[in-house]
Amino acid sequence: LRPMNCPHHIKIYSSEHRSYRDLPVRLAEFGTVYRWEQSGELGGMTRVRGFTQDDAHLFCLPEQVDDEIQGCLALVEKVLSTLGMSDYRVRLSFSDPDSDKYVGERAVWEKAEASLKEAVEKLGADYTIELGEAAFYGPKIDFVVKDVIGRDWQLGTVQLDFNLPERFDLTYVGSDNKPHRPVMIHRAPFGSLERFVGLLIEHFEGKFPTWLAPEQVRVLPLSDKFLAEGEAAAKRLADAGVRVSVDRAAEKLGAKIRLARLDRVPYMLVIGGKEAETNSVSVRHLDRQDLGTFTLDEFVSNITKEIKDRSL
Ligand code: ZN
Repeated sequence: LRPMNCPHHIKIYSSEHRSYRDLPVRLAEFGTVYRWEQSGELGGMTRVRGFTQDDAHLFCLPEQVDDEIQGCLALVEKVLSTLGMSDYRVRLSFSDPDSDKYVGERAVWEKAEASLKEAVEKLGADYTIELGEAAFYGPKIDFVVKDVIGRDWQLGTVQLDFNLPERFDLTYVGSDNKPHRPVMIHRAPFGSLERFVGLLIEHFEGKFPTWLAPEQVRVLPLSDKFLAEGEAAAKRLADAGVRVSVDRAAEKLGAKIRLARLDRVPYMLVIGGKEAETNSVSVRHLDRQDLGTFTLDEFVSNITKEIKDRSL
């Protein structure tokens, strides 16, 4: 049981002799961590006592910091844009130049803060700089995302760390054959996966895009007579990698549709006499209503493309 992944990745780094040619060393893990939050602070999926971080630690040469930061930001940007979260801003937490609470050399801080700022400008996102908000061990970038009802959520973070490499006496051998201190970057695009999934449910109001929906298709046989055709269609879809179920209840079609809509299933396939005869399906979409009749092959081909494209 552990509250964070950082020391473990550090021990992996220091378990081997490292040369400047080996750097950057990037260690990534979906690591489950545990924190004894007070019961009053727990909330839904957003604050839990056991959660999974998409955590990584990058150990690099000082002159590699620029590229590594760029890579981290590109990854966060890819995550957010894939999920349609375009409404975000970036917060740069920098040091207070008049304070002496920070570890590491002033010149290294200045260079690091300049790289963070440059990287964010390249990304083209709105940003604010907050002086004095850095941790004593390094400056950081936070992504603050707005959800559908306008609440701010702090998600991905990229943080430079001048302290832990010092504390754990991390080294690499430079081209001068002498030991040097690597720079360490912590990064987590999602932050906590539990919290992120909580936000996603709010963001999409439960109506996930097809590629994310837990159940992508529900087959609705018009009556018991068409159960076999329904099962066959579901098998064909499942074989193509689609998450599908069959509503076998002895209910009227209207009731089945109502239930599927309540369950937020993106596609409903109705199979009755006409469809069974022509090996086709009548397609209804959760938001777009009645889409008409398709052959089963057509529908499989359309939905697998939609899923593969991660279409929103
Ligand atoms: Zn860390």
